[in-house]
Amino acid sequence: MPGNVPSFCMQGPLPEATSPNRLAKGTTGRRAGVQREAAPLSSAQRGVDSAPALKGRPTAALPEGDASPASQGSSNAPQILAPGPYRRFSVPDIPDALKSMSESGALDGVRTDLGDCRRCALHGGRKNIVFGEGNPHAGLVFVGEAPGADEDAQGRPFVGRAGQLLTKIIEAMKMQRQDVYICNILKCRPPGNRNPESAEIAACEPFLVKQLESIRPKVICALGTFAAQTLLKSDVAISLLRGRFHRYHDILLMPTYHPAYLLRNPSQKRQVWEDVQQIMNMLAEDSG
Ligand code: URA
Repeated sequence: MPGNVPSFCMQGPLPEATSPNRLAKGTTGRRAGVQREAAPLSSAQRGVDSAPALKGRPTAALPEGDASPASQGSSNAPQILAPGPYRRFSVPDIPDALKSMSESGALDGVRTDLGDCRRCALHGGRKNIVFGEGNPHAGLVFVGEAPGADEDAQGRPFVGRAGQLLTKIIEAMKMQRQDVYICNILKCRPPGNRNPESAEIAACEPFLVKQLESIRPKVICALGTFAAQTLLKSDVAISLLRGRFHRYHDILLMPTYHPAYLLRNPSQKRQVWEDVQQIMNMLAEDSG
């Protein structure tokens, strides 16, 4: 494992030797007591190609599909995974109108447009809309699945136990919560924390797309199966998606395990640490 091990990794048992698991589709990592995300496979077992390491800030002109031995050979080198054959659907278009607006103004506008949303049935059971919070100019946006009970009560994302672990991960990345932006695929809590339904995603995702377009981060970190698969329009297991950069429009996207999954499977924290170190390296390219 590259680098020093941060304290968030130390709270659970050390990694165990895991036999390769296959992940059941539709797993998310949020639900207590349910094995939602499988142990990672080796890169050989992943059977996916990685594209060249990125130089400088990513743009829409990122190369697609070329393997780069140099980037694959270095554990610290950020890696980009171009959309592979499993990308069976297109990513939703970003509205052109947003591209000319200033970041914070656009983000405020998205919240205004969302209003007292009643576009899906989840509004009936919510206490609060959880729009998202953080730096409207953030270089890094974390996207989770949906608010839980704590988030619903407070109207803020990732404030429960999983959120406290996310905060520790952010701090291990030498940042504070206010430096990044944190939001979810869904802005209202599904009853009993059940999996989001397609009608709910369809109603809510346009607002996430607008948030991401207004912030225009350098990197999106998709937390867990649900966020990664929804953003990438993929049904590939998180254990296969994580560990490499993908592209969401012209923004780099790193999938990793959900903090709630890490609470149940602390041996996987080191994989998350490896993933977020790649993000740190990528963010450092701009500031260095
Ligand atoms: N889990 C999520 O996916 N999002 C939150 O905001 C909290 C827990």
